[in-house]
Amino acid sequence: MIARVTLEIALRKEFDYFIPPELADQVDVGSRVQVPFGARKVLGCVTGLAEESAHARLKPILKVIGAQTLVTPKILKLARWIGEYYCCAPETALKSVLPEAVRHEQANWRERLYVRALPVNGELPKLPKRQKEVWRILEERRELPLSELLALAKTTAATVRGLEDKGLVAIAPEISERDPYARDHILPSQTLPLNPAQSSALAAIITSMDGGKSKVQSPKSKVQSPLQSRVQSLESKVQSPAERPSGTTPQAPVTEHATRNTQHVSPPSTFLLHGVTGSGKTEVYLQAIAHALEQGKGAIVLVPEISLTPQTVERFKARFSSGPLQTLVAVLHSHLSAGERHDEWHKIRQGRARIAIGARSAIFAPVEPLGLIVVDEEHEHSYKQEEAPRYHARDVAIVRGQMEGAVVVLGSATPSLESYYNCGKGKYTLLQLPERADDKKLPVVRVVDMRQTVRPGKAVPLFSPQLKEAIARRVEQKEQVILFLNRRGYSSSLQCPLCGYVAECPNCSVSLTYHRHEQKLCCHICAHTAPVPAVCPNAKCRNPAIRYAGVGTQKVEATLAKLFPQARTVRMDSDVLKRKEDYRRILGDFRVGKIDILVGTQMIAKGLHFPNVTLVGIIYADLALHQPDFRAGERTFQLLTQVAGRAGRGDIEGEVFVQAFTPFHPAIQFARRHDFEGFYQQEMEFREQLKYPPAGRIALLTLKGRNEEKVKFSADYLKRELEKAVGDIKGLVLAGPAPAPLLRAETYYRYQIMLRAQRMAALSQRLALLIRSLTLPEDVTLAVDIDPVDLA
Ligand code: ADP
Ligand code: ZN
Repeated sequence: MIARVTLEIALRKEFDYFIPPELADQVDVGSRVQVPFGARKVLGCVTGLAEESAHARLKPILKVIGAQTLVTPKILKLARWIGEYYCCAPETALKSVLPEAVRHEQANWRERLYVRALPVNGELPKLPKRQKEVWRILEERRELPLSELLALAKTTAATVRGLEDKGLVAIAPEISERDPYARDHILPSQTLPLNPAQSSALAAIITSMDGGKSKVQSPKSKVQSPLQSRVQSLESKVQSPAERPSGTTPQAPVTEHATRNTQHVSPPSTFLLHGVTGSGKTEVYLQAIAHALEQGKGAIVLVPEISLTPQTVERFKARFSSGPLQTLVAVLHSHLSAGERHDEWHKIRQGRARIAIGARSAIFAPVEPLGLIVVDEEHEHSYKQEEAPRYHARDVAIVRGQMEGAVVVLGSATPSLESYYNCGKGKYTLLQLPERADDKKLPVVRVVDMRQTVRPGKAVPLFSPQLKEAIARRVEQKEQVILFLNRRGYSSSLQCPLCGYVAECPNCSVSLTYHRHEQKLCCHICAHTAPVPAVCPNAKCRNPAIRYAGVGTQKVEATLAKLFPQARTVRMDSDVLKRKEDYRRILGDFRVGKIDILVGTQMIAKGLHFPNVTLVGIIYADLALHQPDFRAGERTFQLLTQVAGRAGRGDIEGEVFVQAFTPFHPAIQFARRHDFEGFYQQEMEFREQLKYPPAGRIALLTLKGRNEEKVKFSADYLKRELEKAVGDIKGLVLAGPAPAPLLRAETYYRYQIMLRAQRMAALSQRLALLIRSLTLPEDVTLAVDIDPVDLA
């Protein structure tokens, strides 16, 4: 037999190897193997088997990694889809489906010496004092790791060997599983009786899991929700349905016609659970997972990395660690050691853990058979991988669900426009939980017009009098405060602090990027440039001090120290978040009330639950709002809504202050009223006009290199090639090349070309072909990002 092997080195093809007889029963499709390649030994994955090969004198496979095939046929199929859809080499796609620790087996099962008490025949012989002490412990514990025994008995291995010589104990190596949560004492949790909204959501999910028709209204029925009628009117304008990867089958791109037909035949098996923060989405997930277990199937739960806290994991472990449905819950987390990751992954592969919970890459967990995939906070951008393969875990989840007949539940308080749009299209079923399950009121959101606080010739203040007063009051009442500042802490756009004017691109409707060094404004989508105005262009304003510098979290912390010397203030930003001990310690201190005011970037907005936080402030909402990205408004709406969900989770009603120079911006106003539907409709109009997703689809091509001339030249060449290769695709818009917004510490030049089309399948296929035939200078690299999420 011949094995076709996809090597890890980038070669874009399979190589044939001969399977030596001694490995014959270990090699299968999906096996990880080591093979000779030239003078080297390289790792790869068997992606096919054949009777014969076109090549003579094949080299043999040297070694098989792991006792089982590591890539199951289902995951292999998923990897192939990723390679095709996201335009990347098969080996790149394959690399991402196994955790590093499993792929290289750098970590293996840990073996430890265990000491076991043997049955005593007759009288116990007289023992020396130390041996007697060891024996006493063993009589009680029967078996335990040698190292633990030695620590308990405060003795050396010689003592235990003495007992072994007397035939009283056995010492032998055993696999000792690493359990990252071993030290946590998790109390079992009971199934909660659901409220009516939760019940009907769960019923729809369960009906679908049972293979029945969902009772939820179909979009073709006569009664229309505002969303449905809205989408239909959009549809008549677009004249062709936009599609998500879910609209394509993995093997071949489907025609528009086929997509339409299948929509009516199969009941939708993807649900969007839109529930305000605290509405009890997690309880719905838990009960749906219980149903999967009852069916003899397993589940995958995806959570954004930042929300994958011990608290979150505990909620799942607590429900399934005992009782009739008891199973192991495996956690796939980048904070685990390589050894822990190895063990957690194999628990799933061996079927001992039927529930896998983790961040993005947990979507490849080999849970089999798979009944349910939950994607919590489905709108989160961290589900998109920023390096090749640039997959979106939510979209992969939907494709995987279709391939394996698993039901997919996307959950969010602020769904992505993409997912909400797909509900209107009838691709997903919308389930809503409009009320908080815990009877806590949503906090009052106060928008503060920062233009009122600016005095000509003076620095722009950080705190409005209203926010200052509120902080003082809350701190005095021994309540807690969280203050947010945008991730970057400085503005990449140009905004007038007096009137709120923002420089925008006339073609693309995104903020122009302010290049401080060159003193110019530039659109990084279409390359439109404009000079920096000397005074505010707004005729009613004419402010000569239009440029203001940004502030960082440090500045906020320093100002707070001055304003509230008696309050205990702690800053938490990306520097702190990198050190996980500090992160945990700060959150721990905050939870127990050792900190009054927590200042952080929006990274801390997610999923934290602090009952004593009654005030949340967003210092400059504009910093998020005027990022040069067409999703800036959506992101701000999400941020404000998520942040509002942090306040008032306890017994005291909470309040939120949003400081902004553009207080009447729709993203802020709809968030203030907790009105997602209103925001959606307003925002879709804009997306529709410029064919931004979800009204259209985007591929972003980025060229990168140290020599700007070369990068620019290559970008122009790429654009000409693109015009030839894909220019005839219906509705195609080619924008750029334009210089990408430069990251602060970057020494590379980047130029981008943005492609917009109505559908993606045809475009990504042709792009893949073009890329293979392209010859670029050696020091210029090309990155293809299908469905990019972060453009700023
Ligand atoms: P979400 O995931 O939507 O943010 P959670 O699942 O965290 O909401 O629920 C918020 C709170 O409400 C939790 O404390 C949870 O235990 C509680 N809860 C959820 N469902 C119910 C219910 N049916 N009855 C009582 N309390 C509930
Ligand atoms: Zn532009």
